[in-house]
Amino acid sequence: MDTGIVIVGAGLAGAKAAEALRAEGYGGPVTLVGDEAERPYERPPLSKGYLLGKEEKEKVYVHPADWYGQHGVTLRLGTAATAVDPAGHAVTLEGGERLPFSKLLLATGSAPRTLPVPGGDGEFVRTLRRLGDSEQLRAAFRPGARVVIVGAGWIGLEAAAAARTAGAEVTVLEAAELPLLRVLGPEVARVFADLHRAHGVDLRLGVRVEELRADGVRLGDGSTVPADVLLVGVGVSPNTALAENAGLTVDDGVRTDQHLATSHPDVFAAGDAANAFHPLFGRPIRVEHWANALNQPAVAAASMLGKAAVYDRVPYFFTDQYDLGMEYTGYAEPGGYDRVVFRGDVAGREFLAFWLSGGKVLAGMNVNVWDVTDPIRELVRSGRAVDPERLADPAVPLGEL
Ligand SMILES: Cc1cc2nc3c(=O)[nH]c(=O)nc-3n(C[C@H](O)[C@H](O)[C@H](O)COP(=O)(O)OP(=O)(O)OC[C@H]3O[C@@H](n4cnc5c(N)ncnc54)[C@H](O)[C@@H]3O)c2cc1C
Repeated sequence: MDTGIVIVGAGLAGAKAAEALRAEGYGGPVTLVGDEAERPYERPPLSKGYLLGKEEKEKVYVHPADWYGQHGVTLRLGTAATAVDPAGHAVTLEGGERLPFSKLLLATGSAPRTLPVPGGDGEFVRTLRRLGDSEQLRAAFRPGARVVIVGAGWIGLEAAAAARTAGAEVTVLEAAELPLLRVLGPEVARVFADLHRAHGVDLRLGVRVEELRADGVRLGDGSTVPADVLLVGVGVSPNTALAENAGLTVDDGVRTDQHLATSHPDVFAAGDAANAFHPLFGRPIRVEHWANALNQPAVAAASMLGKAAVYDRVPYFFTDQYDLGMEYTGYAEPGGYDRVVFRGDVAGREFLAFWLSGGKVLAGMNVNVWDVTDPIRELVRSGRAVDPERLADPAVPLGEL
C-alpha cells in the first residue's frame, strides 16, 4: 500500500521535489515538513536584492501560497522532523507524531558554521541563512554603521557589497591571503579583492580572529576591530543528523548514488544535504548551490517513482556584487588544475576565466559577460583538450574550440 511520500526540509530542494512528483503524475499523498515558519523560499536574494531592499518578499518564494493546496501538497511548517525510521517507514515529528511514508526525501539543506573561538556562539553574532537574518541585517546596514564581517566567502562578500551600498563602514576579516582563495585560486580571487577595495571595504587578509565580542573582534595581534554589526560567514555544514541517527551512510553529506538514493532504497536525498555520486567526475560531490537544489529534485522524484533517472548536470553557480555579475560553470578543486586562462578585460572586470588540467577545461567563469554558459558547459562536459591560445582569444567562438 502507498502511504505517500514525505519530504523533510521545506527549502528550494523540498519544494521542487513536491513540484516534480506532481509533474511526474504521482497522485498519492505528498507531505512537506519544514522547521521554518515560512513556506519554501530561495536564499540567493537574501544576500542580494532582498538584503538591498530592492526585491519584494513575495518574489523570494518558490511557489505562490495557494500552489500547495492546489497541488495536494500538505505543508507542515514550523515543525522539525526529529527522527527517521527507514525500516519502519516513518518519520517522527517534534511532539511525537509519526508520519508514515513509502518513500522519503531528505532535503534538509545546510546550516552556517560557527567560529570555534571564545564568543563564537554569542548571541550578538549574526549569520545569514534565513529570511529573518536578511531582514535584520538590512535594518542594521545603515550609513555610518560599523559592519565587521568574518569570512570572505560568497556570503561574506555579498553581504559586504550590500552593506557598502547602504553606506555602512565595512571591514572584512579573512584568515586566507585572498578572498575566495580555496574556490577560485589566487589568479581569480585577486579580482574580488580589488573589487571590494575599490568600493571602500577595509579588507584585511591573513588575519587570525581570537575572540568575538559584542563590541568587536579581537585579532591575533592583540588589536580590536570595533563593530556595531558582527556577521560571521565561514561556510556551512550539511544537516545530516537525521540521516546519521537513522543509520544511513553519511560522509560530508548524505551519501547517495547517481539516482539520489541513499544507502536505504526507500530514502533519497537532494540539495545541499546530499553528497551525490556524479557520473561526470566518477565520485560523490556535494554542491552547496542554488542550481543543484533546483535541478536535483526532478531526478530524486523520478527515482522515487521507480523511473530511470540520473543526476549528471555540470555544477553551476552565480554571484552579484556591486556592478559585478558572475556565473561559474564546472568544478575545479584546489590543486586539481594546472593552468588558468583568461579571455577579455580582467582589469575592466569583463572577462572569462578557465581552469584547465592537462589542456581540458574543468570550469569556466564569465564576469559581466553573458549568454556563454551553454558553450562553457559543453566544453566542460566534453572533456576534450583545447588550445589555450585559442581559448584566450575572444575572436575564437567558444563553440569552435
Ligand atoms: C544568503 C545566501 C545566498 C546564497 N546565494 C547563492 C547564489 O548566489 N548562488 C548560488 O548558486 N547559491 C546561493 N546560495 C546557496 C543556495 O541558496 C543553497 O544551495 C540552497 O538554498 C540549498 O537548498 P536546499 O533546499 O538544499 O537547502 P536549504 O535552503 O538549506 O533548505 C533546507 C530546509 O530544511 C530545513 N530543515 C533542516 N532540517 C530539518 C528537520 N529536521 N526538520 C524540518 N526541516 C528541516 C531547514 O531549516 C531549511 O529550511 C545562497 C545561500 C544563502 C544562505
